[in-house]
Amino acid sequence: MTGTTAIVTGGGSGIGRAICHRLAAAGFATAVVDLNADSAKKVVEEITGKGHTAAAFGDVDVSDRFLVEAAVERVRDTLGPPLVLVNNAGITGFKKFLHITDDVWDRTLAINLSGPFFTCQAVVPDMIDAGWGRIVNISSSSAQSGQQYMAHYVASKAGLIGFTKSLALELGPQGITVNTIPPGFVDTPMLRASEEHGLLGGSVDEHADRTPVRRPGRPDDIAAACAFLCSEDAGYITGQVIGVNGGRNT
Ligand code: NAD
Repeated sequence: MTGTTAIVTGGGSGIGRAICHRLAAAGFATAVVDLNADSAKKVVEEITGKGHTAAAFGDVDVSDRFLVEAAVERVRDTLGPPLVLVNNAGITGFKKFLHITDDVWDRTLAINLSGPFFTCQAVVPDMIDAGWGRIVNISSSSAQSGQQYMAHYVASKAGLIGFTKSLALELGPQGITVNTIPPGFVDTPMLRASEEHGLLGGSVDEHADRTPVRRPGRPDDIAAACAFLCSEDAGYITGQVIGVNGGRNT
């Protein structure tokens, strides 16, 4: 895929960081887009240190259409037209249903669902021009199972699954595939923060004991599946929900 540009949102940490490493190693010029400029820069240093191509685009809040469009324009100028888009940026949160405020609801939906809407509208014209594109949306296994105290988060991720299926039908004839990976129980700063706040319903180790493959997921487990979905070989896979969760959801 040398010469093809990929955008990964939330590329500065956890799953997004692993996806950036994988795509860059596969030959994509990788745009590491993140709200956190320092972490995006650090990931780019790691990638370029290995001899691959990447550039950092920090201070980009995916819930802000204007910032998204400006960032995509800078990606086009710096690395070339983006033909791969991984919508990974997301926020989580635990709240009893009656404690979910309008602000928390709106912010969660804005980042987790409107963000991918804005990025897709900014990038799909490049893909249509090229007659080829790959979009992977990182949703959540909680949208498959439901999750107490997470109605706002789960609603945003379930919306992302429906968004994926609809875009796949619409963009398939233009050579663009759209799939979603709903990760489950992946050992990242997000998961550890939830454990620290006692919000997991047990420790990470206790959950691992109840997981069929007997371990938490690694960011690279998600990145491997994502890199495949972005490859030429995955051209007949679209509109799919590809679970990567150690067998926790089947
Ligand atoms: P993480 O917190 O380690 O990384 C998230 C990244 O997104 C951070 O770099 C953060 O700065 C960035 N980000 C947050 N808000 C942003 C915004 N408004 N604009 C741009 N960037 C923003 O989280 P992670 O665990 O790697 O999660 C990545 C994705 O995977 C998320 O969408 C999350 O919902 C999903 N997910 C994770 C798990 C898990 O077990 N870790 C499970 C299911 C789904």
